Amino acid sequence: MRAEIKVTGIVQGVGFRPFVYRTAVKHDLLGYVRNRGDAGVEIVVEGEKEKIEKFIEDLKVKKPPLAKIHDLIVNFSEEKGEFKEFKILRSSESRELSGSVIPPDVAICDECLKELRDPRDKRYEYFFITCTDCGPRFTVIEQLPYDRPNTTMRDFPMCSFCKSEYENPANRRFHAQTVACPICGPKAYLTDNRGEEIEVKDPIREAGRLLAEGYIVAIKGYGGFHVATATTLSEPIRRLRKVKHRRQKPFAIIARSLDATRTFAIVNQKEAELLTSHVRPIVLLRKSEDYYLSDLIAPGLHNVGVMLPYSAMHYMLFDEVDEPAFVMTSANPPNQPIVKDNDEALKRLGEVVDYFLFHNRRIAHRCDDSVLRVHGGKHVCLIRRSRGYAPAPIRLKFSSKKYILGLGGELNVVSCILNGDKAFLSQHIGDVENIETLGFLEEASRHLIRLTNSRIEAIACDLHPRFNTTRLAYRLAEEWNCPVIQVQHHHAHIAALMAEHNLDEIAGIACDGYGYGPNGQAWGGEILYCNREGYKRIGHLEEQPMPGGDLATRYPLRMAAGILHKKADISEWLFSKNSCLPHGKAEAELILKQLEKGVRIKTSSCGRVLDAVSAILGICHERTYEGEPAMKLEAAAIGGKDVLKMKPKIKGEVIETSEMVYTIFENVGKLNVGDLAYSAQQYLARSLAELAIEKALELGVKHIGFSGGVACNEQITLTIQRIVEDNGLNFVFHRAVPPGDGGTSFGQTIVAALTLQ
Ligand SMILES: [Zn+2]
Ligand SMILES: [Zn+2]
Repeated sequence: MRAEIKVTGIVQGVGFRPFVYRTAVKHDLLGYVRNRGDAGVEIVVEGEKEKIEKFIEDLKVKKPPLAKIHDLIVNFSEEKGEFKEFKILRSSESRELSGSVIPPDVAICDECLKELRDPRDKRYEYFFITCTDCGPRFTVIEQLPYDRPNTTMRDFPMCSFCKSEYENPANRRFHAQTVACPICGPKAYLTDNRGEEIEVKDPIREAGRLLAEGYIVAIKGYGGFHVATATTLSEPIRRLRKVKHRRQKPFAIIARSLDATRTFAIVNQKEAELLTSHVRPIVLLRKSEDYYLSDLIAPGLHNVGVMLPYSAMHYMLFDEVDEPAFVMTSANPPNQPIVKDNDEALKRLGEVVDYFLFHNRRIAHRCDDSVLRVHGGKHVCLIRRSRGYAPAPIRLKFSSKKYILGLGGELNVVSCILNGDKAFLSQHIGDVENIETLGFLEEASRHLIRLTNSRIEAIACDLHPRFNTTRLAYRLAEEWNCPVIQVQHHHAHIAALMAEHNLDEIAGIACDGYGYGPNGQAWGGEILYCNREGYKRIGHLEEQPMPGGDLATRYPLRMAAGILHKKADISEWLFSKNSCLPHGKAEAELILKQLEKGVRIKTSSCGRVLDAVSAILGICHERTYEGEPAMKLEAAAIGGKDVLKMKPKIKGEVIETSEMVYTIFENVGKLNVGDLAYSAQQYLARSLAELAIEKALELGVKHIGFSGGVACNEQITLTIQRIVEDNGLNFVFHRAVPPGDGGTSFGQTIVAALTLQ
């Protein structure tokens, strides 16, 4: 018999062809395997029917660990007798199927790590050691199929040794496209901050020593540059904060090992699993009681973002120093994408760092590190889904009839392509407020479209008319002659939950900072009923004034004043807080005048209420990064008790927040700040859960979900979950996409798909 087989999924760049080769040879089959231009693999085998069937079974069951098979299409026919052996053929350019994709970057595997440390190995201490099971993928591939000439490794012709491994079916580097060694592969080198090379024998370990001595070093990695410093010294971190104009935003760190991590953070089993997985994300870990790293790493927060080394270079940085960890933060100028090219790095980072640790391999596509945390010891809450995840698809239980591109909103943007029953999310793009990031969004989206061989038939974006992403959607729609579907922000959040859990209807709580409501209102504390037809707002937090509009977001004391003003004369209190306002007494007077006159701009945002409480408790008076006052409130509430036990005050569809905020205010100085922070969060969680349950029971809905940036808050999420489950309803949370705005493009494509069905 002859069988012609087409495989789609993640089958290029994961050692699939070598595996097919070995499996075919094992079953005495003749024929060939080759990569295709649509990221799939094509196999033709001839031999006994029984053996072919066993071969196909093995393909499904014994595939390499990183491979994912979506579809396996088999056509049997008569044997032609044209083959003498089984071969891996040169790839074909043909693009017929869509929805396959190349894999994400993979952390260094144990085998390569062993070789790295083995003095007899040819790749002993070589920073770019990789194999068919590990190394960069997404970030090196310029175009399909995944062959060396289509990657940035084409600049490094293989030496005879690497070539012999590459061509040997018994070798674990058989057809590994990133294979390289110290003779033929990329080289690392150290320079000063003007790009003058510094002659040293061992640039990587020298960089590690410089870090330990207190210097700031920019380090080129897989998907872009990081800026690194020591973690036990505060001076370099203070200097870094100053030159980066980053006063409070936490820095991620890379720890030497899991054991080293345990010396300063609490790591449970689930977190340990995630830290050591081949994704190697940044995991937010609770600082331990004897946390001894600099307080400037994550000021005012109870947790710190930690990742473990994912390349040989990272491991080597630690070899000759005692530091338990290094700061390892994405090198991106404010509101701009992560820096990836050497020239750009010198230009943009030269003033920030003391040294550069470069290598001469180009980065095809930038990719930031992923960030997540674990709720309740077991539930993963993605905060940023990027390196190690992108561009692997999320599989859905339903299939979209159209190919749809979703562009997200304004902050934490990620684009998404819905292609049949797969959703492909791009790497993290960032805040699309300026031209550079918008350009990156467009480029990343077009690249993802090419990679997945998708022909876009509709574009989904936010309802906000003035978002850059909305403008981009209309421009691309004109180019591709397709419709634009604008989706309300919180609807997108809840639709994402619905699709992830394959539900037909849901009562969804969506809480965050801001989303454009249908008539231009500022939403952010919403309960929505969602089904396949659309959504209905069935509850929300009380609308609160925002004196000064956007200023009330930056200076949470303004929010606090706006809420408290409803309940009491606050002039004396506000004047006592003059030092917390940038313009002091004059500003306080102006705010009071605005409040007397009545403030037109109002918001139902949950984030703004948390901000107000944070300011009243003296925890945070200026938001220098997104979510700061609320995140610091969560930190303050750790270990707190619900001392106030405030009863939910719900009128119709509205959850009152003024009285809660006023009660907190009245108890400042009488009760412990941590207990008050805990009580405020508890009030919001309980009220949202109660109203959602009431409405769900009225509507006969069995599922209640929680989404939006506030859902990253562990206490609020776990409280809502407990109450929902205690009432016999099913609680759903995001598993595949972030609850924050990194999940909205996915939700937008779902709404568009349902609209177009
Ligand atoms: Zn490896
Ligand atoms: Zn070599």
